[in-house]
Amino acid sequence: MGVMSGKRSVLKIDITDEEIIKRLREHRFGKNIENLHCVYCGSKKVIKYGWRHETRRYKCKACGKTFTDTTGTIFENSKIKPSTWLLIAYLHLKLRLTTSAIARAVGMPYKTVWNAIKKIQEAAMFFHGLAEVQRRLQVNKILCQCQIKGKK
Ligand SMILES: [Zn+2]
Repeated sequence: MGVMSGKRSVLKIDITDEEIIKRLREHRFGKNIENLHCVYCGSKKVIKYGWRHETRRYKCKACGKTFTDTTGTIFENSKIKPSTWLLIAYLHLKLRLTTSAIARAVGMPYKTVWNAIKKIQEAAMFFHGLAEVQRRLQVNKILCQCQIKGKK
């Protein structure tokens, strides 16, 4: 169990969390948010309502609720970063690696990864949809070039 020494290699993807949130926003609401709608009531009477970190916030004038780019997705209120979610999803859904192999690859505890994979399975459509957007924007190529981040 000497893996906790910080000497292990950790797999990273070459896309920032900000970029992923932007892709997610385009995936859900359209490139110029032309498909923007309330995630609660479906109304199109939605206004931009500031930002929360890199996620845009919206307010629905029909039901009065506010939501963000990540509301109702796996990224919402998650301690796991979007880039890590994507990486785990890629390793699981596409490469079919085992949970322990993924845990080693991303440098996270087995239990955390196991729980993440369970959620990814439930949200598989979401990740396939996101991958579709990435393919169109040729970001998929970057995702495939998962690079081993060498130790210092
Ligand atoms: Zn609404």
